[in-house]
Amino acid sequence: MKQQRSNALFARARELMPGGVNSPVRAFRSVGGDPFFVARADGPFLFDVDGNRYIDYVGSWGPMITGHNHPRVREAVERAARDGLSFGAPCPAEVTMAETLTRLVPSCEMVRMVNSGTEATLSAIRLARGATGRARIVKFEGCYHGHGDSFLVKAGSGALTFGVPDSPGVPKALADLTLTLPYNDFDAASALFDRSGDDIAGLIIEPVVGNANCLPPREGYLRHLRELCTRHGAVLIFDEVMTGFRVALGGAQARYGVAPDLTTFGKIIGGGMPVGAYGGRRELMEQVSPAGPVYQAGTLSGNPVAMAAGLAMLELVQEPGFHQRLEATANALCDGLEAAAQEAGVPFTSNRVGAMFGMFFTESPMVDSYAGAVACDAAAFARFFRAMLGRGVFLAPSAFEAGFVSAAHDEAIVAETIEAARAAFAAVR
Ligand code: PLP
Repeated sequence: MKQQRSNALFARARELMPGGVNSPVRAFRSVGGDPFFVARADGPFLFDVDGNRYIDYVGSWGPMITGHNHPRVREAVERAARDGLSFGAPCPAEVTMAETLTRLVPSCEMVRMVNSGTEATLSAIRLARGATGRARIVKFEGCYHGHGDSFLVKAGSGALTFGVPDSPGVPKALADLTLTLPYNDFDAASALFDRSGDDIAGLIIEPVVGNANCLPPREGYLRHLRELCTRHGAVLIFDEVMTGFRVALGGAQARYGVAPDLTTFGKIIGGGMPVGAYGGRRELMEQVSPAGPVYQAGTLSGNPVAMAAGLAMLELVQEPGFHQRLEATANALCDGLEAAAQEAGVPFTSNRVGAMFGMFFTESPMVDSYAGAVACDAAAFARFFRAMLGRGVFLAPSAFEAGFVSAAHDEAIVAETIEAARAAFAAVR
């Protein structure tokens, strides 16, 4: 596979940007090798600057659920851009976006648009703290909620990949306010709330953990957290930046039937543009400035071009059968990967939740805890990643990131992926 142009770009980039990238996992540090530079993307494919084609299971880390460069999203952006790029004053698309989000996710009676998932989660905990007058927040080992100071404590995703769960620069006094729990452990959550429940402003969770691979909640676990938060007056926050509109039209809260007090969004709601949002119960959201005293603002929030992209994407995901088709694709892919691993004699299992999936190099038949995820063979994953990339399949370049299928991944694409996996698993042994 040719990589001269990508290599030359990476050499320039390394001189100018930390690690040569604008987001750490893109540098391929934990899987080895150098990243490719993308020239364009279409449907299920990325095309790099050297002319190589990759079947893409990263989907820009989640937003591209309809496949890359969908004509309806692109045309909506082109139309909106003709009328101006940013107004700094309210525009109609913001109202349509708020109507769409509150209709599709009924626990959100009001929403506020922001510009990234990180902004959404930062704002949600400020609101939880402001509304309760308490300081402590609870998060879960391996859950990543963006790079806000309070969240870089036992975080997953890039932080886990690089083995720096606690970043320098996060003041200890602030980190001390973040309490962490093991995901899917009922008793640990009960014990923490028994001990400190009256000091807890809010609990934030990825309801399906996509930043420690892909860990589904045990039966009744989210309901247990709902009950603890209700009993102790803490705000339950579902971080649906990844799961929103992906694991079901109404997100994980619809799939598992548990309503949080606040929800954070990102990725899909921007259609590929930089967008986030948080929303929830009316009396909580009415605490946000200027309706209430909890301050939060944004120069580009509700940007008209970004709203157009997100609205076009949200229209597409509402088409009948959309999520069922993607779930069938994820199942076919994971069944095929498991069979290929078995043929090659490689210990391997997978998790799938709607249109997201996880790959685990392990003897365990089921992984649903952070400890289980970190016990997997990351070196075997790295070999598999490189072997797949060499065969034109791009998986998330980390053993701790979920994979994503899109509406553009059809049967032929899945079959091509499984064929590549047969050879790649042989290289793992
Ligand atoms: N929350 C979750 C669950 C995420 O997966 C991410 C990013 O991957 C974020 C928050 C942060 O979003 P952003 O990268 O848009 O700031």
